[in-house]
Formats: sequence, C-alpha cells, structure tokens
Amino acid sequence: MVEAITGGAPSFSFEFFPPKTPAGDETLRATIRRIEALAPSFVSVTYGAGGSSRSRTVAVTRAVAAETTLRPVAHLTAVGHSVAELRSIVGQYADAGIRDILVLRGDMPGDPRGTWVPHPQGLRYAYELVELVRSLGHFSVGVAAFPEGRAHPSGRPADHDEEIRHFVAKCRAGADYAITQMFFDAEHYLRFRDRVVAAGCDTPIIPEIMPATDIRQIRRFAELSDAAFPEDLAHRLEAAHGDPGAGHRIGVDHATEMGLRLLDEGAPGLHYITLNRSSAATDIHRNILSARSADATAPLARHQ
Ligand code: FAD
Repeated sequence: MVEAITGGAPSFSFEFFPPKTPAGDETLRATIRRIEALAPSFVSVTYGAGGSSRSRTVAVTRAVAAETTLRPVAHLTAVGHSVAELRSIVGQYADAGIRDILVLRGDMPGDPRGTWVPHPQGLRYAYELVELVRSLGHFSVGVAAFPEGRAHPSGRPADHDEEIRHFVAKCRAGADYAITQMFFDAEHYLRFRDRVVAAGCDTPIIPEIMPATDIRQIRRFAELSDAAFPEDLAHRLEAAHGDPGAGHRIGVDHATEMGLRLLDEGAPGLHYITLNRSSAATDIHRNILSARSADATAPLARHQ
C-alpha cells in the first residue's frame, strides 16, 4: 500500500524540471539540498517534451529517490509514447523504488496549441494512462486539474461543464489526488473545487502556486497556461520592473496571501513551482508556516 500523498495535515510540496546543462544540474542540486531541510510532503519532477529531456526526467527522479530523503513524484505524459514505452518507463520508476506518478496527457511537442495526435500504438487521454499505471502495480496516481478551464485547440473557449465531466471521469479512473495548473486568483480554484464536489467527486485537489515575481516571465507562462493575471498585480509588477528585490516581495506577498486563503478554505495542500530556484517558493512557504504556527490548529504536514 502506498502512503497517501494527501490526508491529515495539509501537504506542501515543490516542483522541479530536469536541467539541460551541468550548471543547471548544480543549481538544482543546491535547491534540492535547501528544500530537503524543510521536509516537504513530496517533490515532483516534470516530464520533458522530447527524447533527451525525457531521459533526464527519469534520471533526476531516480537520483532524488536514491540520494535524498525526499519523496519524488514522477510526472509522466502519454504524448508521443507507445503503450509498450509507457510500461517500460513505469517499470524503470518501480525498479528505482518510485511509487508516485503524476499522470498527464502532455501537449504536442513544439506546438502546445496544435491538434493533439495520439501515437499509433499509444493512448489518447490521461484517464487511459491512469488505468495503465494502476494496472502495473501499487502506485499513487495524481492527475492535472485546470481551474480556469483551457482553450480548445481550435481556439473556442473552454466548455467548463465538459471539462468538469472529463476531470471527474479521470479521477474515477483511479486518481488519488490532483494538482492544478497555476492560477493567480483563489476564486478560480474555489469555484472549480466546488463544482467538482457538486459533481459527486471528492478527490483532493492541490493548488499549484507560481510565485509571480517577474512580469515578463509571468505574462509568458500565463499565456501558455490560459491563466488570467490580475491587472492590479500586473500593474504593481510593471512598476517594479528592473528591481528584482521589489518584484520578489510583491510576488511572495501575493502568493502568501493566496496560499493562506486556499488553506483556510480547505485546500489539501500547496504545490510550489520552483523553476529549480528555491528562494521565492521557500519564502512563501516560510511566511505561510509562520502565519499558521500562530494558530496551533493549523499545522502543515512534514514528511517523516
Ligand atoms: P486529459 O485529462 O487527457 O485532457 C485533455 C483534453 O481532453 C481536455 O480538454 C479534456 O477535457 C479532454 N478529454 C478528456 N477525456 C475525454 C474524453 N473521454 N472524451 C473527450 N475528451 C476528453 N506537460 C508536460 O509535458 N510535462 C509535465 O511534466 C507536465 N506537468 C504538468 C503538471 C500539472 C500540475 C499540470 C496542471 C499540467 C502539466 N503538464 C505537463 C501539462 C499537461 O500535460 C497539458 O496541459 C495537457 O494538455 C493536459 O493534460 P491532461 O492530463 O489534463 O489531459
């Protein structure tokens, strides 16, 4: 039986991506050492879009499992893989003692908005990969959630009812928990969560927290992820452009406030995007810990 990712005190966790250069490896190693000291519930490693990036995901996740006390969650995408390849990757994770997989469909490499074409011997939707991973052994399985919906590749706006139906079906296929796409307004999460609950689904949905410290970078991410960016926050970050210290403070304060609200509203944890650098994510986390330690009934989980 795999220990649950959520349950009890809210979880807190961090996301990394596989670096492309030796300098990037070094930065990630230093970040992992700092984050290990915080004893998070888990850390996750994203799955790349192309061949060499994919093998780096497997290598980084295995190294986290072998060389640290952290609990690694491996992202795995269906796009571009045959079922035989997916089975083999899951087998490599199992060999390394990794029992936690975040299952995704993945976007078309080179054109995230392009028409999605399944591998001829592959899968079409994430729920099928949930079923495959479940059939291969005892894994905890996470899936992706999109609180703001997502634009259809044809350009038409998201059909939220349809997205909720598919999300609930994916959870029922065997997901233990979900992690959301980044968002910058707690209301988006709360409305989505309430609609999922109203549809009869109680799968825990962990909000993903992206520190908004640099307006150019955030506009790019928000565009790619369809996340609406609050104008007020955008104005403040624009005014701070060229002053990284001020941008950092604005982004950390906004994310701290949003994280506290989400936890107060019952979110089962917080998943911080690090971009392989720890300072914004760990500052937010420390702020949240200290605000909640004033309230003895509101601890956060620490990985044992
Ligand atoms: P699905 O759940 O399969 O949904 C895809 C589309 O199909 C949706 O529009 C859905 O409504 C529709 N659909 C689902 N089921 C059906 C059905 N039965 N019939 C008709 N339509 C259906 N990408 C990466 O490449 N690597 C990563 O590591 C990565 N990590 C991520 C982590 C998180 C937390 C999130 C939120 C996203 C991540 N992504 C990653 C991006 C993700 O792969 C893409 O956004 C992808 O487009 C969506 O994948 P999904 O798993 O939600 O797909």
